[in-house]
Amino acid sequence: MATDVQQKSKDESQLSDRDLRAKDIHVEQAPTVHGKRVPKPKMVDKDSRILWEYVVPVVAFHLLIPLAFIPYFFSVWGLLFLPIGNYFFTSMGIGAGYHRLLTHRGFDCPKWFEYLLATLGVCSFQDSPARWVLVHRVHHQHSDHQPDPHTPNVSGFWAHMGWLFIDNRELSTAAAFDKYCRDLMRDRYYMWLQKGQNWILVYLAHTIPFAVLGFLYGAIFEGSVAGMIQCSAQCFFWGVIMRTIYTWHVTWAINSAAHMWGYRNYETREDSRNNWLFALLTNGEGWHNNHHADPRSAKHGHRWWEVDVTYLSLVALSKIGIVSNLAMPNNSALERKSL
Ligand SMILES: [Zn+2]
Ligand SMILES: [Zn+2]
Repeated sequence: MATDVQQKSKDESQLSDRDLRAKDIHVEQAPTVHGKRVPKPKMVDKDSRILWEYVVPVVAFHLLIPLAFIPYFFSVWGLLFLPIGNYFFTSMGIGAGYHRLLTHRGFDCPKWFEYLLATLGVCSFQDSPARWVLVHRVHHQHSDHQPDPHTPNVSGFWAHMGWLFIDNRELSTAAAFDKYCRDLMRDRYYMWLQKGQNWILVYLAHTIPFAVLGFLYGAIFEGSVAGMIQCSAQCFFWGVIMRTIYTWHVTWAINSAAHMWGYRNYETREDSRNNWLFALLTNGEGWHNNHHADPRSAKHGHRWWEVDVTYLSLVALSKIGIVSNLAMPNNSALERKSL
């Protein structure tokens, strides 16, 4: 037996990064569990610690919402930060970067562009790339079945945000990182972001350009120090705080709403749905039943009306040579699952 284990680890050490990624991604799936209530993951219990590093910012940001609407901090142009910030930081950072590239390897790109997308994702304050990928690969392996980290079959609130606040010890071990995201943990940048939670420093650092942008805008259009300070505060409130809250909820809704409400194109082993509202708000991630039916495909919209702006952006990037080998839907496999 020991010899077998040694042989296995020796064989694995000889695998390329791509082989390891394929091995990690194509994990065995749990059986069908449509709508069945399931308990929380086993490693979430009375001994689990509260994750204050999530609780404090999420609660604090939400408490700041009323301030964003008082005249001093509110501006009509500030509202533009929501769709623009959502597109760059969340659709490109989380949707294209963390999800379609790092988790599922649905396309290829140069390392500098991969790091750019991952860094945009970090600026959405949705965990480090490695841990996000780990959680999402576990989600695909056990979708809507214990120990899926965030199934609404526990409760809608649990799927939306409850799971973020309590330590699931199964997802925190070195063994879990090794099993589910070894490809990322071998990369010095992702390792640095993970170690000591440096990704939070990157998030904090990204607020500086927003403050500077506000100062410049105030200098040009207000022409006073008081105006510069006010514009900077407006940029901070709407470009960072409100944009982050908005993108948290539309992304979290893929775990909650898109596993509860919407239509299904395919018979899959979980309760994933195509939810048009959150597909529009996330620029394509809401076509979630399509995604579960064919996880590696970079194209989540399969019907002509299922607009997938993230995929269209990747197509545009492929036209200028930055992105290549976009994984397309596997139509023959999908036909067998079609409803
Ligand atoms: Zn899902
Ligand atoms: Zn996925």
